[in-house]
Amino acid sequence: MGKLDQWLKKNLSIADSDTKNPQKNEKKTFKKKNFYKKDQKDQKVHTKVQKPQKSHRPQKTKGKLRIIPLGGLDEVGKNMMALEYGDDIIVIDMGFEFPSDDMLGIDYVIPDVSYLEENSKKIRGIVLTHGHLDHIGGIPYILPKLNFPPMYGTKLTMGLVDKKIEEFKLKNFTKAHTIDPDQTLKLGQFTVEFFRVAHSIPDAVGVIVTTPAGKIVHTGDFKFDDNPSGRQKKADIHKLEKLGREKNVLALFSDSTNALVPGHTMSEDQVGKTLEEIIKKVDKRLIIASFSSLIGRIQQILDYAQKYGRQVYVSGRSMRDNLEIARKLGFIQHPKGLVQDIRKYKDTPDHKTLILTTGSQGESVSALTRISNDDHKNIKIKQGDTIVLSSSPIIGNERAIATVINRLCMKGAKVIHKQMMDVHTSGHGKRDELKRMIDLVKPKYFVPIHGEYFMRQGHALLAEEECNIPNQNIILIKNGDVLELGHGKVEVSKEKVETKYILIDGSGEGHEGSQVQVDRQMMSENGTLVILINMTKNTGKLKGDPDVISRGFIYMHESEEIRKEVAEMTKQAFNRLIKKDPKASKHDIKQYIKQTLDKYTHTKLERRPLIMPIIIEK
Ligand SMILES: [Zn+2]
Ligand SMILES: [Zn+2]
Repeated sequence: MGKLDQWLKKNLSIADSDTKNPQKNEKKTFKKKNFYKKDQKDQKVHTKVQKPQKSHRPQKTKGKLRIIPLGGLDEVGKNMMALEYGDDIIVIDMGFEFPSDDMLGIDYVIPDVSYLEENSKKIRGIVLTHGHLDHIGGIPYILPKLNFPPMYGTKLTMGLVDKKIEEFKLKNFTKAHTIDPDQTLKLGQFTVEFFRVAHSIPDAVGVIVTTPAGKIVHTGDFKFDDNPSGRQKKADIHKLEKLGREKNVLALFSDSTNALVPGHTMSEDQVGKTLEEIIKKVDKRLIIASFSSLIGRIQQILDYAQKYGRQVYVSGRSMRDNLEIARKLGFIQHPKGLVQDIRKYKDTPDHKTLILTTGSQGESVSALTRISNDDHKNIKIKQGDTIVLSSSPIIGNERAIATVINRLCMKGAKVIHKQMMDVHTSGHGKRDELKRMIDLVKPKYFVPIHGEYFMRQGHALLAEEECNIPNQNIILIKNGDVLELGHGKVEVSKEKVETKYILIDGSGEGHEGSQVQVDRQMMSENGTLVILINMTKNTGKLKGDPDVISRGFIYMHESEEIRKEVAEMTKQAFNRLIKKDPKASKHDIKQYIKQTLDKYTHTKLERRPLIMPIIIEK
């Protein structure tokens, strides 16, 4: 099919729906409120459209453990992995991902769970490693499709999950269980144990799963930190040592995020010391921007604010929410009155003020961005303010952060970031730590997970070159691959499981390449051309000239002539079609006009706007 044909085919379906105007973002709140019902409806459509092909069905591989990554391997985000043995399935993590720049108007991307939907009766539980959104963010969207299997996670993780499912009004349906990391779970034929790891959020664990086909270890996100921040518990090194001594781990699945970064992550303790220096020395107003999930870091900041007599004001919804959850569960402790909502900020002297805010990633609606735009109700930047970005940019956010920093500096603030001082450390182990994990666990097979391909490849090379794992025992897999483990061996099966990108926006759920996405892409690149055609009722005759409205399509000084030409062509096309087929339906007319105008804009202007003819009968 030629490009034009493809385009016409796509537009044909818009012609059906454009008068209904279905793609509006104002449905956001509606969707949340009615989520459960709506999702049930979605589910029906979903199974109808994406009828699983035969090849997706598990061939009964007796006595083998099947491991299927449904997300997290072509990206940093939407981590999710299914383990299947006989009639039992468990799932490790259920994350989402923030969209890339070309996914216009999309809020989140979630893993494709059609394989699990087909097998939902077998699911014995969802095991969560920690409370970051790339590990728990998909829960409210996915759980209803799987008939709400029970979830298991540590105290803070389940506190954060609880908040999510409450927001989506799913609380009555979910079975959420808080586990102690020293506890053992029996889920079908799986025995699940946990080990504490250090990470950038407290209460993170790795998972040890014992099955009749062998034992596997999944690290979750981890680093090694001998001096973790706040009042966090240390990692369970002894459990890992024990695994190494027993030498019976068939495969290790390990976090690859920093596999190309040499050395060891800086301790949170060092970051704390630097922050203390800053809080002590700065004699004017201080604003610290960080991730709201960095609970340990936030505890340190609160401790120093207390020590040096600063009142803390909190700005940003996720910062407020997470602080509240962490406080309730005992992960944050501070004297009463130390922390106030930013809305109460009024007369505190500058040298006694510390503002804690979100927005360290330059997100367009975040508190720090609003502050930099002079758009924050309670905070206006002034000469002498010091702003600390206790964070590091996530890939793709660098430009947005630079813009925010520029604006803050132009307003007279001094901005401190991690290139200048030790105000941040990563939550993911660097090469020395990754090597240490492999050396401790001593697995037979090694599978790098969590990260983009180049990161996982770096991790594979590290395992081979520095940990003596034989090349043939290192397996690089993709989302949707099926790993088969049994009889002391691990192999990639020929079978594939569907892993489309499922896109979530205010109006619902779709997949990549869906009509809504194609329309948005077209509008963003070429603008829109709306043609209002007035028709006298039941006569098939035009009433006056068509109105042509364009947005983002052509510059105004050229547009008058083009507008006239488009109107004239519309008129001619309309009359030509009616002459040929007096009974032509509105749909036919729109389609014909679209085709005619597309040829014109493409050949004459070399542009392909989204063309929307609208017929008004009077
Ligand atoms: Zn994490
Ligand atoms: Zn992660």
